Amino acid sequence: MSPIKKNKIQITPPENEFKQFKGNANIYKQMFQFSPFSIIIHDMEMNIIDVNKMTTEQFGYSRKELLEMTVFELHAEEEMSNSSRVMESFKTEENLRVETKFSRKDGSVFIAEATPFKYKHDEKLLIHVYIQDITERKEHEKQIVNAMEKAEESDRLKSAFLTSISHEVRTPMNAILGFIRLLRKPSLNDEEKKQYIDIIENSGTRLLNLINDIINISKIEAGLVKPKKQIIEVNSQIEYLYMNFRPEVESRGMKLVFSRPLPTNEAVIETDPEKLMAVLTNLIKNAIKYSHQGIIDFGYEAKGDFLEFYVKDTGIGIPEGRLEAIFKHFEHADYADKEAQQGAGLGLAISKSYVEMLGGKLRVESNKGEGSAFYFTIPYTTGENSISWITSDGMDEILTNQEISKSTGLKILIAEDDDFSYSLLKLMLKEVSGELLHVENGAEAIEIVRKNPDIDLILMDIKMPGMSGYEATKRIREFNQNVIIIAQTAYVLMGDKEKAIKSGCNAYLTKPLNEEDLHSVMQNHFIN
Ligand code: ADP
Repeated sequence: MSPIKKNKIQITPPENEFKQFKGNANIYKQMFQFSPFSIIIHDMEMNIIDVNKMTTEQFGYSRKELLEMTVFELHAEEEMSNSSRVMESFKTEENLRVETKFSRKDGSVFIAEATPFKYKHDEKLLIHVYIQDITERKEHEKQIVNAMEKAEESDRLKSAFLTSISHEVRTPMNAILGFIRLLRKPSLNDEEKKQYIDIIENSGTRLLNLINDIINISKIEAGLVKPKKQIIEVNSQIEYLYMNFRPEVESRGMKLVFSRPLPTNEAVIETDPEKLMAVLTNLIKNAIKYSHQGIIDFGYEAKGDFLEFYVKDTGIGIPEGRLEAIFKHFEHADYADKEAQQGAGLGLAISKSYVEMLGGKLRVESNKGEGSAFYFTIPYTTGENSISWITSDGMDEILTNQEISKSTGLKILIAEDDDFSYSLLKLMLKEVSGELLHVENGAEAIEIVRKNPDIDLILMDIKMPGMSGYEATKRIREFNQNVIIIAQTAYVLMGDKEKAIKSGCNAYLTKPLNEEDLHSVMQNHFIN
């Protein structure tokens, strides 16, 4: 076997990449000058004795200026205390490499890795420091650490999400299925039936709330939620909430009180009313959920440039160690206390994001066993737009002071392919409909409206087989501008409402429809 021959490899970069050293000058001196790192030579008192070209470029001082300075003066202000400590360790440690911050002549700061070498020259102790700017590298490291933390957090969230969701879905689902089975028993009396139906309804609502919360938090995290500001009058919102929640609070043997100290003409702010109402609604719901007795007090106070809203209760309270955690996703105040974990733990995380989006802060004060007080601020600013009022689930409606009475005898078309939804709508519209028509797809809807120009109202399901409700509405608008069209959809995704209005609908409702919302939207369009 012939011995393996080693090939000699010669790397020859283009000549113009070589630094040209001048003929007679000391080659080591020139290497010092042209080093890509800053090199500073200083004595043990930190007086600078020599610097290379890179030092003058990196720090922005001339060589002459630097030779009159100490290394201390080059350190960034926040590193001053560190620099003497570092000097101390130079004396004892070998091969020390430190990360520090330096300040340039123009005041800007950079992060550097400084590698000092100690040596003796003519009996004099000197230090020779290599300085490398690592600002960019540190920035990348920070980005990697952030990305890792995010990945870990999302991993933690995923596990918490699955545990919480399976619990949150199973509990109401078990109740729904269990009580439906019980309802089949022929021996039930009316009272029992009512009780079971109430449980099924509450469990269904709980499931729907959970789905809404998950969609909301996902939209917030994806950066898809932006505040839509308008001018609103706050007092009427507070009164609306009071009217809305009083029956529930009183039915639980508690008292609801409210305060709206500003006169109506001064209680005007520019904010996103849907988000403001969502936060207040969530805090009041929590106050109800986590209290058994006493008073729930809510309202606002003017504090300089902000209105500070509050919701206080005399409920179970939150242990001190959990006051921060409850604002995180899927966190509860007390895992040992069953009562303190009746929800998915998303409401406060959503509320906090909404408040911050509106330019305020959400905080809590609480004592376990005594009650809780949630406070949040909203900037007290106004603009010139018109004032609109809003209901708790976010449906815009301009209310007039006119007496609104229920219309009757309307000719109504329900475009809906799902039998159950159709039956529900039929029941809800019983009192107001004179004549009820039903179609199951978009094409039929167009056809029937063409034949019946006197239809007053169309309830248009958006997702139907074949032609969608949006498309059908657009086509109907080509020949009929008068009929009122209310879109109804099971999707609660971003932009649906805008899409419905753009295609020609007058209003938009989310399924499962609630009778009050349906009537309140209808009242806007059919005032007697
Ligand atoms: P959820 O109520 O759906 O669990 P939240 O994010 O609204 O989720 O609240 C997180 C946790 O904070 C709750 O599980 C509960 O333990 C605690 N909490 C919230 N509001 C109150 C309150 N008013 N009183 C006592 N504990 C509360």
